[in-house]
Amino acid sequence: MPKPLRQSDLDAYLDEALPADEMARIEGILREDPTQVEQLAAINARRDAGIHTLGEIWRRNRLSCPTREQLGSYLMGVLPDDEAEHIRFHLEITACRFCQANTTDLQNAEEETPCEVQTRRRKYFQSSAGYLKKS
Ligand SMILES: [Zn+2]
Repeated sequence: MPKPLRQSDLDAYLDEALPADEMARIEGILREDPTQVEQLAAINARRDAGIHTLGEIWRRNRLSCPTREQLGSYLMGVLPDDEAEHIRFHLEITACRFCQANTTDLQNAEEETPCEVQTRRRKYFQSSAGYLKKS
């Protein structure tokens, strides 16, 4: 028995605001459980009637989302305290999936870059060394 989906899951699903594996998980649950589809349909109907949840409005408009640059500065720890605190709250307490994904992406990029640069430097060095030997 899959655990029931939360309203916020279904909202985010409709907004396609979830990571791919989470989208797939919810899709799987919806396929197996007609009552959850009813719930999804109800949310959709309410949306058509113009009623939106706060979370939905928030995600739609990304009301308080920091920019990618701000997230980068946050990761580097160069933001003023109050700004850093706002972003920490947004990521950890509000748990904004959009910004969490963005942050993970930035962290990965940060981890990869120095290594890639080194590899490139080494390759460059080796090829120029080889070139020098031949000439
Ligand atoms: Zn956000």
